[in-house]
Amino acid sequence: MKASQTIISTLRDAPNDAVIASHQLMMRAGLIRKLGNGLYSYMPIGLRAFRKVENIIRQELDNVGMLEMKPTVIQPGEIWKESGRWDKMGAEMLKPQNRGGQDMVVSPTAEEAFTALVRDSLTSYKQLPFTLYQINTKYRDEIRPRYGVMRGREFTMMDAYSFDRDQASLDESYEKAAVAYRAAFKRMGLSTISVKADTGAMGGSGSEEFMVESEVGDDTLILCPGCKYAANVEKASCKPDVALGADGKPQVATDKAVEEIPTPDVKTIEQLTEFLKTTPQAFIKTLIYRVENAGVDLGKEKKFVAVCIRGDLDVNEAKLCALLKASEVELAEEADVIRITDAPVGFAGPVKMTKASVICDNSVMTMHDAVTGGLKKDIHFIHVEPGRDFTPLMTADVRTVQPGDICPECGGTFYSKKGNELGHIFKLGDKYTKSMNVTYLDENGKLSTPIMGCYGIGVDRTLASIIEGHHDDNGICWPMSVAPYQIAVVPVKYDGVMKETADKLYDELTKLGLEVLLDDRNERPGVKFKDMDLLGIPLRIVVGEKNLPNVEMKLRTASDAELVPATDAAERAAAIVQKALAELNA
Ligand code: ATP
Ligand code: MG
Repeated sequence: MKASQTIISTLRDAPNDAVIASHQLMMRAGLIRKLGNGLYSYMPIGLRAFRKVENIIRQELDNVGMLEMKPTVIQPGEIWKESGRWDKMGAEMLKPQNRGGQDMVVSPTAEEAFTALVRDSLTSYKQLPFTLYQINTKYRDEIRPRYGVMRGREFTMMDAYSFDRDQASLDESYEKAAVAYRAAFKRMGLSTISVKADTGAMGGSGSEEFMVESEVGDDTLILCPGCKYAANVEKASCKPDVALGADGKPQVATDKAVEEIPTPDVKTIEQLTEFLKTTPQAFIKTLIYRVENAGVDLGKEKKFVAVCIRGDLDVNEAKLCALLKASEVELAEEADVIRITDAPVGFAGPVKMTKASVICDNSVMTMHDAVTGGLKKDIHFIHVEPGRDFTPLMTADVRTVQPGDICPECGGTFYSKKGNELGHIFKLGDKYTKSMNVTYLDENGKLSTPIMGCYGIGVDRTLASIIEGHHDDNGICWPMSVAPYQIAVVPVKYDGVMKETADKLYDELTKLGLEVLLDDRNERPGVKFKDMDLLGIPLRIVVGEKNLPNVEMKLRTASDAELVPATDAAERAAAIVQKALAELNA
């Protein structure tokens, strides 16, 4: 490609809303342009890198035997009502109506579509197992789209769906997806950490997320230095510990009855522990949560629960949400807290709580002689014994694990890192095949239900993450496998003998099957060099009059250039490109 025939529109400065390197560089290099909030378009050079990422993913999925297909992006609302997710998905799902007033969905994911399509094609066990995938447009009405294509509203996802007869077969399909993911990420120069993950509104169990470490990551990873334990904080558990008294020894049971004590002007846990001369570990913190679409019976108040946890710990809303099989949990509004606790905010507690069911974190159950809110203004209860003085509806692990907590598998001390989720694999089971009534005849002629797994990779986010991991002060440094062009041929001036040499080189390289950008623009050499660096083309060949018959070859990531006879340059360049690709593919 000649630079004069494509669009190179680099910017000196990134727009103000671009705060992370990949977003800034994609804008500055002119790879993407913004059409609206969370709506980014790929320009011709950007699209080339995008297609490479897409194709590497495609090749690796094909290698493990997955089958690509192309369903529509617009889906009938019907199938979402069948699966029960029409209401569960919440405001992220864009639901237009067609001219006939029928509900439609702009695909935010496609479990329903694939399930419905398989329902129409699957008859016999002989067809199973198989995994279908698409690489296609998704729309999610994200509240806060940010970081450019890292979290857009419209984006491209590879999503795959496996159909199996039994758990053993599903385990194999799942493992195949994991193998394909690892191979694809490696080829793109990304090193991923796979972590245990929360399955969110998707439902099901057995899931891993493929994360890249990133300072600007949206996810927090909990990692153990001693063993392989790695989990998203939304799912991480730690070794339970016993509640300690102010003397540092395990708390001891009391046979004293619960007693009300006045606690005037005490608002925070700090003030309370100061007032009572104790530690936060003696306090049962109680938070009133509003629960949307709970999948378990909450009794009493259908939409609210009182969640109790030891005073020094925090409730993890993702874990709570999963426990209650809810679409969303959120701290209750002040008015609801007042109504449920009969007191101002700050005096909630599980004892004598009649209006909402109590959910206890495991930490509460080792507490003794504890302090809780008294359900009255300026009143607390002391001598509270969990189990004796209140009975939770459920006791479970809903605590936020933190660095310093202890690994449940090996006793190591956790540390944490920020990461971005590139991909996700999970075992769904029969959630969709059952609700949408997919069946096949097994070898005994009996009607059976297949089980599913689903798998997703964000193509745009993967592209942006490659840039996050491969750039310097001058611009992008593409790994060879995903570079929009592999080689830039830059004549200092596109004229005379330099033009002749550059044209010849361009022809030779193109004939060797290499992807070349010839900078034939009538610009100062400094401008051209800057642009090629910003664009991140891995290998640059400069044709300057003073060096002829030699040309200058330089890798984007190297500090020095090398002089090579122009007649050898094409072959040398081909070898460099092949070597770089081979290293990534190894
Ligand atoms: P997140 O927690 O980041 O919102 P998610 O759990 O909603 O991700 P999945 O439903 O598992 O994501 O989607 C699969 C993949 O699609 C993600 O791993 C991510 O790479 C990509 N993805 C999800 N949402 C977006 C988005 N708004 N913009 C770009 N990519 C996205
Ligand atoms: Mg999301």
